[in-house]
Amino acid sequence: MRRGPGDDHIPAMDLDFTEDELRRYSRHILLAEVGATGQARLRQARVLVVGAGGLGSPLALYLGAAGIGTLGLVDHDVLELSNLQRQVAHDTSRLGRNKAESVAQTLAALNPEVRLEVHPRRMDAEAARELIPRYDVVCDGTDNFATRFLLGDACHLLGRPLVSAAVLRFEGQLSVFRGHEGPPHPCHRCLHPEPPPEGLVPTCSEAGVLGAVVGVMGTLQATEVLKLLLGIGEGLSGRLLLWDALDARFRTVKLKRDPACPLCGEHATIRDLSAHEHAAPAACAV
Ligand code: ZN
Repeated sequence: MRRGPGDDHIPAMDLDFTEDELRRYSRHILLAEVGATGQARLRQARVLVVGAGGLGSPLALYLGAAGIGTLGLVDHDVLELSNLQRQVAHDTSRLGRNKAESVAQTLAALNPEVRLEVHPRRMDAEAARELIPRYDVVCDGTDNFATRFLLGDACHLLGRPLVSAAVLRFEGQLSVFRGHEGPPHPCHRCLHPEPPPEGLVPTCSEAGVLGAVVGVMGTLQATEVLKLLLGIGEGLSGRLLLWDALDARFRTVKLKRDPACPLCGEHATIRDLSAHEHAAPAACAV
């Protein structure tokens, strides 16, 4: 990250808040771990949310409400009736509208202090190269392996942390990838060196998903973004959080950096995004 936790050398942080800002963020500022300095860090931050769907809805809502200074929203897709069972930042009157634009409209009403950058385009290699360097943290709220691997590779190569969640049926998982910072942080390819063969893992549109499960995972994702920006608590880098909603059980497993990893290993073979250049068109957000 260019700016962030523990960066005491940041040139004079702007700690001036308006009366309205002090009132709006008072419950944050009351927290010793946040305070005015933390709130100023959030206001200074730029976060990119890829996928304005089921994960992207709570993500964007909580990040926007939290006072993230600039939120980028990427989605090329339009709102369909079958999205509304879980994509709660939209509403029925917006069917057919671009989803990034729809979420931006909701956020503008929720918190006019946030600068919104709407990118109604597909997240492909070109978009990754262009957009990712402009943000401090990237969140993956997409529902397909092509985009997941593109974002994993691009964030690693471009030096940005990736907060990545996935959901299916009644289960969710979440991790934070900061492999570009070096050991001991693993990258996403330390966990999955290659995407699974096409058709092996079903998507939500094939297997279904409980809407509330997506909401919880997107909210956990927002929490990890805020922790990362504030430099508080124990992050999820090097750990994978797994949640089974039917069992009502959370667990975490350790992720190790793999010396033979094709992206972050000693003899890494992935050095650019060329493998993603002609990838099949990716599906939409969860
Ligand atoms: Zn790796």
